[in-house]
Amino acid sequence: MAVSRTPFLAGNWKMNLDHLQAVAFVQKLHWSLRDAAHEDGSVEVGIFPPFTDLRSVQTLIDADRIPFSFGAQDVSEHDAGAYTGEVSAQFLAKLQVGYVIVGHSERRQYHNETDEVVGRKVQAALRHGVVPVICVGETAEDLEEHGASAVPAAQLVRALEDVAADADIVVAYEPVWAIGSGQAATPQQAQEVCAALRGVVAEALGPVTAERTRILYGGSVKAGNIAGFMREPDVDGALVGGASIVVDEFSAIVRYQKHVGV
Ligand code: PEP
Repeated sequence: MAVSRTPFLAGNWKMNLDHLQAVAFVQKLHWSLRDAAHEDGSVEVGIFPPFTDLRSVQTLIDADRIPFSFGAQDVSEHDAGAYTGEVSAQFLAKLQVGYVIVGHSERRQYHNETDEVVGRKVQAALRHGVVPVICVGETAEDLEEHGASAVPAAQLVRALEDVAADADIVVAYEPVWAIGSGQAATPQQAQEVCAALRGVVAEALGPVTAERTRILYGGSVKAGNIAGFMREPDVDGALVGGASIVVDEFSAIVRYQKHVGV
């Protein structure tokens, strides 16, 4: 029997919104969804604020019973020790942080994160029960040279080395050329690569885990194009950057089932 995967609409705030702005944003998003009679539980709503916002967001979500998940944007590969400036998965877990983005292309590009580092960060997250959202994707040059799937599939193979077969992970296919460019992949392109990535998960962790693992598309997702992606069988949600810090836009993305009649 096919497993149904709860769609995951995740907002990567990047380095935007301080903790006061974060509190206001989460409240407004919650009200916006409530006013629009959004059915809680029909999708999972996730927000990924900067580290300094996490405690405030956690307190608010907890106190007001807001049905959002939240995650961090990065994690140390180490659990504790002399690693100035780093934040461990152990600390995230203590804050009830459910997810952490690992291997975002901006970290690969600006912080020289290699596949090996990404793999160790995945391990660190899993050690403490934080679900890694493993980002993979090809550059425009990779696309021209190798086609769409080769580079993201190879990145995912490396990230899943030594991961237990029953691990809880999320994969995000984010073509680098689509991030922040306004030029999203087509739903068909996203489907093709997401299906290939599900094959990688099946190969590494087995078919049962592959069937339940959510694979997201990310790259210039907006309210106007989300429905096309969500119609694809192997696209289980979206990792949204720029549009995730605009309340009305992200609220409309979360409500994609209603406003486009999917
Ligand atoms: C991202 O940074 O993960 C992302 C998908 O950004 P954007 O939606 O702005 O392209």
